[in-house]
Amino acid sequence: MRRIYLDNNATTQVHPEVLEAMLPYYRELYGNPSSIHSFGREAAAKLVEARETVAGLLGCDPLEIFFTSGGTESDNLAVIGTALANSDKGKHIITSSIEHKAILNSCHYLENKGFEVTFLPVDSRGFVDPDELKKAIRKDTILVSIMHISNETGTIEDIPKLAEVTKDKGVYFHTDAVQSTGKVPINVENFGIDMLSASAHKINGPKGCGFLYIRKGTKVIPRAYGGSHERNMRAGTENIAGIIGLAKAFEISSGMMESEADRYGKLSEKLWKTLTDKVPDIALNGPEDEGRFKNTLNISFRGIEAEAIILSLDMEGIAVSSGSACSSGSGDPSHVLRAIGISSTDSRCALRFSFGKFTTEDDIDYVLEKLPPIIERLRKMSPVAHND
Ligand SMILES: *Cc1c(COP(=O)(O)O)cnc(C)c1O
Repeated sequence: MRRIYLDNNATTQVHPEVLEAMLPYYRELYGNPSSIHSFGREAAAKLVEARETVAGLLGCDPLEIFFTSGGTESDNLAVIGTALANSDKGKHIITSSIEHKAILNSCHYLENKGFEVTFLPVDSRGFVDPDELKKAIRKDTILVSIMHISNETGTIEDIPKLAEVTKDKGVYFHTDAVQSTGKVPINVENFGIDMLSASAHKINGPKGCGFLYIRKGTKVIPRAYGGSHERNMRAGTENIAGIIGLAKAFEISSGMMESEADRYGKLSEKLWKTLTDKVPDIALNGPEDEGRFKNTLNISFRGIEAEAIILSLDMEGIAVSSGSACSSGSGDPSHVLRAIGISSTDSRCALRFSFGKFTTEDDIDYVLEKLPPIIERLRKMSPVAHND
């Protein structure tokens, strides 16, 4: 059976060149970068190189890059580490209502520790309004954290504009750029941000490896204690193979950003336009055109539980997801779709298609052949009232 993977916002296939680049660090070059013998020194030199590669792609100093175990750890370090380090200045944090759970639950942790968090609303396409952000900033605000590209709707927030609002206010700005790093151009200077989270496995790198960019001078306290790794910011023997893979993946991805964005645009348009012709009563969640990263297409198929569609597609070898991988299975409608004003009923009918480097037009044609009859069959089987 054909197998088609359209869940690239959950994770991606490791690029063959990335795997090739990583293998020597398990086989021959397995030294610990902290060791002073040649094995260690070789590993340490490669770690320096990888850090330079990542920093070069973001326009920052290599010493501002801190490798972590992925997006979640980077988000935790940014939000909790910054809050705890700056609580003498204030205990108020601002974020948005459509963040990844890694941000939202870090904020909830802080709420339990006596911090106050404002969760900014978004408009019907998922955008945070810079004026709303400006109004939310108080004297005791210490941190703003707004994601760059939404993993659920593909909405691209205007990070430079949002970060601008925090300028000269003594408020740090962090962005969860897990879905955007290596996919759209980012320069930390032009963006005017203090921190940025990224993860390797969302861009055809290995799982369990990411980084946090921390602008020099930003006060952050570590979340992990031990050796002096990562300039005392994150203890633990470095995941050398993972870091090499991350740098390689980021490099490959950055080299094809423009052509990939164009390709996703065409795939997305074909899938959406053809579906609207063939399937009645569907709705696109998020921006239809401007302001969406087109690898993501979130569609409500009214009247059918997303789970039923996912399982039917799975039987045809097609992998898609409902909302975010992290909340699917929990039975709750996506907090992101609810935040953009989609009814709870329509949220439960939402499928997320997310394309990656290995998605082809053939894959989309196959989906367009298999999906419409599935929807028709499911709608006949279980007519659900379109209320709420
Ligand atoms: C996947 C994802 C994360 C979590 O990254 P991990 O490396 O899987 O921990 C955080 N934020 C966003 C927006 C994501 O898509």
